[in-house]
Amino acid sequence: MKDGWGFTGKILRVDLTERRSWTESMEEYAKRFIGGIGLGYKIFWDDVGAEVGAYDPENRLVFAPGPLTGTLAPGSGRFEIVSKSPRSYPKETVTRSGMGGFWGPELKYAGYDALVVQGKSDEWVNLWISNDGVEFLSAKDYLGEDTFSTQIRLRKELDTRCQILCIGPAGERLSRLAVILSEMTFASGRSGFGAVMGAKRLKAIAVRGTNPLGVFDPQRLIEVSKKVRALSNQNTSRERTTLILNLKEREEFINKHRKKNTGCFGCPLLCFTHIDVPGVDACAAHCISYFYHPHATKFYGATLERDQAVAEAYSLANRYGLDTFEFWHMINFLRDLRDAGLLNQLGLDLDNIGRRGFVQKLLESITYRKGFGDLLAEGCARTADHIKNGWEFCAKYFPAYGSAAHGPIRKSPALALLWALDSRGPLVDQHSYIRLSISFPNETPPLTLPRERAESIAQRFLGSKLAIDHSTFESKAEAVIQTQDHSAVIDILVLCDWLFPCFHSFATEDRLGDLSLESQLLSAVTGHPWSEKELNRAGERVWNLARAIMIREGRTREQDTIHGIFFREDKGEKAVFQTALEQAKTEYYRLRGWDERSGWPTREKLEDLALFDVANDLKKEALLT
Ligand code: SF4
Repeated sequence: MKDGWGFTGKILRVDLTERRSWTESMEEYAKRFIGGIGLGYKIFWDDVGAEVGAYDPENRLVFAPGPLTGTLAPGSGRFEIVSKSPRSYPKETVTRSGMGGFWGPELKYAGYDALVVQGKSDEWVNLWISNDGVEFLSAKDYLGEDTFSTQIRLRKELDTRCQILCIGPAGERLSRLAVILSEMTFASGRSGFGAVMGAKRLKAIAVRGTNPLGVFDPQRLIEVSKKVRALSNQNTSRERTTLILNLKEREEFINKHRKKNTGCFGCPLLCFTHIDVPGVDACAAHCISYFYHPHATKFYGATLERDQAVAEAYSLANRYGLDTFEFWHMINFLRDLRDAGLLNQLGLDLDNIGRRGFVQKLLESITYRKGFGDLLAEGCARTADHIKNGWEFCAKYFPAYGSAAHGPIRKSPALALLWALDSRGPLVDQHSYIRLSISFPNETPPLTLPRERAESIAQRFLGSKLAIDHSTFESKAEAVIQTQDHSAVIDILVLCDWLFPCFHSFATEDRLGDLSLESQLLSAVTGHPWSEKELNRAGERVWNLARAIMIREGRTREQDTIHGIFFREDKGEKAVFQTALEQAKTEYYRLRGWDERSGWPTREKLEDLALFDVANDLKKEALLT
């Protein structure tokens, strides 16, 4: 690592209890862990004991861009947040959540590779970070403000060009569903990190930086970036991605209300759609933003009132600082409970699901913890614990670790294995597997990936053409390892998983993508000649470090699983074959070089990955075989 080329060389650390800040060198972290989640997990390994809870002042919030952040590398406008998550279930665990927008690049321009926040402020505080350092500003007057007005006011107060992360009233009230939000739409989902900010009494972090960020070989960076853009030509992430609507519904909605496309810093794809429905706030929508569409369509049909309800639901959730992903399934979960006679109305008007008023009331009651909303603010998983037979209805929507389902677990053994082995819903940074194995083979022409092409790509990048055969667990352990390690590479650089890893491309004759793009970008930016293999090894190292953290938190082989409901047939949907899942886990541990009985990483593997310190620490805690 050389300061100035990709890295600024400094980590900014802030202690809210003592109201002090200092910097430390990035160099030792960058050598082995590069940035993003690599840096975040290492800071947790070094600083935070397993006993520390999500709301404990000792918990850290690590905001970590990577060496590509702030450069013109396509899809590099994102950054990662690592913290102990209040959302994970049944235990709070250290996990990750990525965010797009402009805040990450701005932090780099202010002179920092990362921000680490610890402690808890006596009074509500805003942080103001600039080229000159950090100021602690009173946030007393901001209390109760939603995320949009917080940003508008702070920009007026500080600098109209600053970039802001903030929480809304849901985060202030420690809802486990609270996100950290920037602009109108960029959010850290499925982690509850907004509540961690709330517990620290930190309302917002504004950043403005004007320092240059050096690139070792700008010409080469331009060449590789052009290659990425060419290979991503016809990437459908912009127009087609959503599990909620079919293509026709989505196009109908967008064609009626789109103003323009928008997205993160320096992104060629601009996958968010700026939507302006008459009579409600404008919003920038993507994928899960349409969570209320199926319910509102049932109630209103295809009318303007339906569109207003859909747009308002999304916009309101963002204003309150709530995770939209939860609500898609929460509404189904509540409906099922009501239908089974297990839930009284509890002030939620469940007979009018789909109405504009229903979703307004639901979001408001959760945000302000009114009535039954107080329990729902803890998330569906913890709500299910309080309702007799609640998990019979919750599990099919929330298959593991309190995260909402994303992809057909019963229909894909690899997805079942990915879910079983993560600390959160895995697919947000691992879309590449879904795209290759599910989306594109089923896409409409001309964007179909013919089966034989998909299989040859799977053979090349995931170890076997069986990697995308959904009828068997065979070859899935290797496919999952490759998927996890590639996603770790993306999350340490940091790049967007709509663009990377580039398994396939509609711009090449054989549809084959290029997995060396990441190392080419990193070499051009930093001047160190990274190979694809060396970078994948860094990804593997970070995944092993994440596993070591899980093990230190008490994760066992038995806990590497999905909810038992998936091992039973359900309304004609086949069961996940439990014995086959267990065998695939054993194969996975073996291929990872971990102990097959416990799922613990071994000293040999950790030392092979230069994680000597991690191996020694685990040994001291009797967690190494
Ligand atoms: S594809 Fe979308 S989420 Fe990814 S960097 Fe571009 S605009 Fe952001």
